[in-house]
Amino acid sequence: GLVVDECFRTVMPSCSLGPPTEPEGGDVAKGNVLETAKRKRSHVPLEIFHLRYLSVTDISAQVWCEQQMVYRRERPDLTTPENIVLLNTGKSIHLARELEDHDLVTVSTTSREDSWAIKVLNLLGMLLVLQEGHRVREFPVFGVLEDIFVVGVIDQLGYTPKGELELNELKTQNNASMPSAAQKKRDRFQVFLYKYLFDAMVQGCLAPEQPLGPHVQDQARKSGFTVSHFRDLLELLSLNLTHCEIPAIDRLQIEYIHQDSGTALGTEVVAYDQDEVGAAVRYFLAYWKGQRDSRGVDVEDAWKCRYCAYAGICEWRMGKAGSPAERWKKSK
Ligand code: SF4
Repeated sequence: GLVVDECFRTVMPSCSLGPPTEPEGGDVAKGNVLETAKRKRSHVPLEIFHLRYLSVTDISAQVWCEQQMVYRRERPDLTTPENIVLLNTGKSIHLARELEDHDLVTVSTTSREDSWAIKVLNLLGMLLVLQEGHRVREFPVFGVLEDIFVVGVIDQLGYTPKGELELNELKTQNNASMPSAAQKKRDRFQVFLYKYLFDAMVQGCLAPEQPLGPHVQDQARKSGFTVSHFRDLLELLSLNLTHCEIPAIDRLQIEYIHQDSGTALGTEVVAYDQDEVGAAVRYFLAYWKGQRDSRGVDVEDAWKCRYCAYAGICEWRMGKAGSPAERWKKSK
């Protein structure tokens, strides 16, 4: 069975790449984010939001509207209940699919390294399954992009009849129709990022001293690995990744299904563009490093504001710092 830590994938590792862990997506601690930011006078969003890492979904949300992603962090009180329902339904559909492949085993963890260790153990197990030519689900990916630690979870990896390694991303839709071009653009970037991180992992990278908790060591033993420190696991992972015969991802596919009925709506196969993803990553991560201000939608995407929970407070939309069109021109 696949191993989960007691917080069920809510804790991500710090690795040697950053200080203590945050909940998935690097969520902000409770409290007034803006007040803290003012006190600290930081202009770097990563510091303002107390983030040690970003998730792939944080970055792909910037494709839709960066300003909206910022408001979602600053004003979670304004998030619409429909969004929460959609998110939870999406999570249950993912979990149901995962349970088709394996059971989940709960292991109690005592440190962030333990939580990371669980992920690494899962990863090691999945590498074996992939090497044997089988499908895996919920495959963790991580890496450093533009000096920022980025994490994500690939829905599904498997081989096509032609033997190509295929990534399949599952998206649930509120309406029984395929998504808009704008949604597809965001989803396409998300799978690009997964491929970017995955390919870097199988091509070799990575590098902590924390002893692992007894339950985790025990679980590792059951999986056939003798490890006492987190670093042992990373070394093992690095070795396995470097010497495994798993190729880079050949095919990227996004599968859309209707949230209520579970009906398949269609699939999109997208052509990977390395230059595009590299340029977009540099652009999006410059915001997190405080190198530029957040931006709302471009003029041609102003229709998105009609469906946005933050339209009533959005300074970009109200053009307080110049009209959106002016700001848009200036930023070009
Ligand atoms: Fe973005 Fe428009 Fe929402 Fe502002 S109102 S956050 S620009 S979508």
